[in-house]
Amino acid sequence: MNEEMIQEQKEFDITELPGVGTSTAIKLVEAGYGNLLAIAVASPKELSEASGMTEAGSRKVINAARKAAHLDFESGDQLLARRATVIKLTTGSKAFDAMMDGGFESRSITECYGAFGSGKTALAHQLAINVQLPREKGGAEGVVVWIDSEGTFRPERIKQIAEAAGLDPTEALKNIKVARAYNSDHQMLLVDKVEELILQEKLSVKLVIVDGLMSHFRSEFYGRGQLADRQQKLNRHMHDLIKLADLHNLIVYVTNQVSSDPAAFFGDPTKPIGGNIVGHASAFRIYLRKGKKGSRVAKLVDAPNLPDQESAFMIAEAGITDIE
Ligand code: ADP
Ligand code: MG
Repeated sequence: MNEEMIQEQKEFDITELPGVGTSTAIKLVEAGYGNLLAIAVASPKELSEASGMTEAGSRKVINAARKAAHLDFESGDQLLARRATVIKLTTGSKAFDAMMDGGFESRSITECYGAFGSGKTALAHQLAINVQLPREKGGAEGVVVWIDSEGTFRPERIKQIAEAAGLDPTEALKNIKVARAYNSDHQMLLVDKVEELILQEKLSVKLVIVDGLMSHFRSEFYGRGQLADRQQKLNRHMHDLIKLADLHNLIVYVTNQVSSDPAAFFGDPTKPIGGNIVGHASAFRIYLRKGKKGSRVAKLVDAPNLPDQESAFMIAEAGITDIE
């Protein structure tokens, strides 16, 4: 799929789909299904809930959208060509980038998990600057959406890192759209809003950060009785993020906690929370911990085509750097 085709799909009038009249179209737009791609990758159940159409009717609409959006099978060479459009976002550390085969990839989710103070949020600040850099410097000249579930975004920190990277701090801050997520529903709603920023406000969003992915899910659902409900909701959230990453060729960076509650006698302090749902949705999983002499160690624990390995970096006033 090339940029032109994507543009064509964004401009497609959804009332051209079978059984979609004006009132249904309005409902679809309001529910976030205002373009061909969003409909093409929806499930009949989702679409039926959003529009009031029957599930059978929704299935027809989805099939027609898939055809119009050319979302059929692709051959291996087409996929390879698509892979060539993947953006690799630099972390700021050459060692870390090398471990990631160039940086954090667009079209997928990269998850960093680790104890408090391991550097997850520091890395988020760095990525939010780096993505604004030109391609030849490891960026994508993109806008950032920061979904902040823990209230730890610091504009002052952005200014410091921007200056060190040679960017105008005020411009850099303008290119970061921050929203504090107040609960898990709100967090999910904010992901839908990203689509609006891209399609309606035409912002070139290239990085979406969810800092504190599990914070609300963890505190709102507790006890075994609620686990299934939590996982189901979390699954939707992760799939919304994957869709966003894939459809708009952007990088999704999520941070996660470890189950190291000191009061708990169970739980592995080096394991992320969220179970398999988060694990399967994240193409790249990285465990962060403190290393020697104030360094941080990033361990790649899961990646589709890279070996498990470790790298070390520093967090300094200027941001993420290599160890001298
Ligand atoms: P996490 O999000 O994993 O809980 P953080 O990313 O907030 O952890 O890590 C914070 C750490 O980053 C601090 O403990 C400190 O070591 C380092 N740090 C933050 N700001 C600076 C700075 N201006 N100069 C040097 N180190 C910093
Ligand atoms: Mg943090």
